[in-house]
Amino acid sequence: MSALLEVEGVHAGYGPVNVLEDISLEVGEGQTVALLGANGAGKTTTLRAISGMLKPRGRIRIAGHDVTGRATERIVKLGVAHVPEGRGTFAPLTVEENLRLGAYARRNGGPDLERAFTLFPRLGERRHQRAGTLSGGEQQMLAIARALMLQPRLMLLDEPSLGLAPNLTRELFKVLRQVKEDEGTAMLVVEQNANLVLEFADAAHVLETGRIVLSGTADEVSADESMRKAYLGY
Ligand code: ATP
Repeated sequence: MSALLEVEGVHAGYGPVNVLEDISLEVGEGQTVALLGANGAGKTTTLRAISGMLKPRGRIRIAGHDVTGRATERIVKLGVAHVPEGRGTFAPLTVEENLRLGAYARRNGGPDLERAFTLFPRLGERRHQRAGTLSGGEQQMLAIARALMLQPRLMLLDEPSLGLAPNLTRELFKVLRQVKEDEGTAMLVVEQNANLVLEFADAAHVLETGRIVLSGTADEVSADESMRKAYLGY
């Protein structure tokens, strides 16, 4: 059986500037895959190519459907939710309104606000507060909670812990782990915090100047000497 996400020999960039060189990776149903690497290595560009924000060369398949160069709406309909770096919530709307909007393109059923508030109790306490007045960390959680409202099969998460204090980062990873276990949502996670993400990822890839230089199970990548020196700090 083919993987949920298959990326094969992908090249992509911005106008004449090529960033990604021959990227190949897979995310199986329910799997968590980490995408690691230094600033500017092409991690965000990889997620953009997958979610249809850039037109790549090569081949991208989701659940067996060839989506290379297809519009983002089509990719969303196949169950892919992209949580971009930074916030991207609607500032004038309340927490609850943001979540209802997230459920708009959902594949089945009505919005399950209570599930979102169980996973993120902080958001429940602030359900009537405008998103623009939430703290940075709370906005980050709202962006993730909103993506979960789609009941995605695959979440593309771009630096979910960016700007979060260490205790909130741990809380966030606990929630992601729970979503993985309870709902079997597959995830491709870009993360600077390599130690934390490798604790719950199944596989990992390391990017350097647009190329994958190391791939393996999370244990293999954690044990790699060059990886330990460059990103894990031991
Ligand atoms: P970071 O960890 O800093 O977010 P990244 O690995 O996600 O880095 P990308 O954002 O994918 O890296 O950037 C890869 C390269 O593409 C960088 O050299 C960057 O300057 C360039 N780039 C990104 N966005 C654009 C754009 N809109 N136009 C032109 N070049 C871009």
